[in-house]
Amino acid sequence: MDFLPVFMNIRDRDCLIVGGGPIAARKASLLAAAGGHVVIVAAVLCDEIRNEVEQHHYQWLPRNFQENDLDGKAVVIAATDDEAVNQTVSTLAQARNLPVNVVDNPALCSFIMPSIIDRSPIQIAISTGGASPVLARMLRTQLEGSIPAAYGKLASLVERFRDKVKDALPSVDARKNFWEDILEGPVAELSFSGKEQAAEQALQQALTETASEGGTTKGEVFLVGAGPGDPDLLTFRALRLMQKADVVVYDRLVSKPIMELVRRDAEKIYVGKARANHAVPQEGINDILVRLAQEGKRVLRLKGGDPFIFGRGGEEISELMENGIDFQVVPGITAAAGCAAYSGIPLTHRDYSQSVTFVTGHRKEDGDTLNWPALAAPQQTVVFYMGLHCVETLCTQLIAHGRGADTPAALVEKGTQPDQKIYIGELGTLPELVKQQDVKPPTLIIVGEVVEMHKKLKWFLPHKTIT
Ligand code: SAH
Repeated sequence: MDFLPVFMNIRDRDCLIVGGGPIAARKASLLAAAGGHVVIVAAVLCDEIRNEVEQHHYQWLPRNFQENDLDGKAVVIAATDDEAVNQTVSTLAQARNLPVNVVDNPALCSFIMPSIIDRSPIQIAISTGGASPVLARMLRTQLEGSIPAAYGKLASLVERFRDKVKDALPSVDARKNFWEDILEGPVAELSFSGKEQAAEQALQQALTETASEGGTTKGEVFLVGAGPGDPDLLTFRALRLMQKADVVVYDRLVSKPIMELVRRDAEKIYVGKARANHAVPQEGINDILVRLAQEGKRVLRLKGGDPFIFGRGGEEISELMENGIDFQVVPGITAAAGCAAYSGIPLTHRDYSQSVTFVTGHRKEDGDTLNWPALAAPQQTVVFYMGLHCVETLCTQLIAHGRGADTPAALVEKGTQPDQKIYIGELGTLPELVKQQDVKPPTLIIVGEVVEMHKKLKWFLPHKTIT
């Protein structure tokens, strides 16, 4: 970070502008909008600024800049077309530790002016650190479109209720939850649609109801699929709930860039889950979810891929239901879909594969329960999750039940992530490939003729392939 963003109070303070051209005029009106008292030093004024001086009662000193113009000023802006003057203003102001901005010359500035979206009392300031004002303006245009003008009204309404809510709900958590519900619910909608009075009444009613319930909120669990690793593959709903949670319970498959999108001040609990190395056993995870929700927390249970595909999501929600805890389930992109797309292997194809089966290589201790004759049938794709440790058995069984040893097969390691690797082989050679290349989990195994398509499609993919 090259600059520290701050918002400065200049109300009723004297602010100096050196220069009388159109740029000076724009800066003057910004300072005036923030309540500053504008003093302009310039021998001549352009028409635009002359009108403003009259309209807004700026003070105009019709002469060249002098050092004592800096006396008692809160901020200084140099906007002349004379570089030497701008340089002098900057040097003298900085010697006095006065914040100074020289238009179009970041090297002479002690502060820079951002691009502004004004939804008073909300202000959004965008800066590119002087690198590209045009880019900042483009971003501003994008944001302008997505932030309704009515946000300002909503913020004013919230401001009017702040002290009341503080008195009625003494706990910080209760207030946070209350405001989140208000800002995402009907009160916000009423305010956005211009029904100010109805919004105010609804807010008052919600406050009375929450206070009468003692300010306690009911806990809830969000069982959310985080996808295979690339944060771009999250759903909008997943992202919204990730921003809302008080606490997140996550496991090994949730990638780091995804964890960075979780609300910053949420408590984070790691429950591990490498194969046979559970940091917290499943029963322990269930207990944690129940306990946190009973404490009134919004609990985000974040899982790799989809929570209902080899994710034990079903077990977790059974436990929540037994304990009467509210929950929602948000699907995620499962590893098979993510790895297939990012490795150029369509899971089905009209010519080669009319069905696809997801199978787990990690079975309960009571032995091999897989239906090998069905899995070895032709014209289908079989995707093995958690199959790396038993790749030898999987390949041997498929071959023993009739699938050709030359059936194409792929290993996709860390699919969709920047360090994704794709290994292409055949059923007969796959176990050797795993050993040779030291393939590591998480890895997905894809078996079937569709793997051949990778040869055609790989040129479009950014990742490394090893064959
Ligand atoms: N619920 C998850 C699957 C959990 S089981 C989902 O829907 O994707 C864990 C197995 O998923 C791993 O052993 C591996 O086989 C597979 N897997 C998960 N993420 C992966 C990734 N990014 N790349 C390759 N395989 C992955």
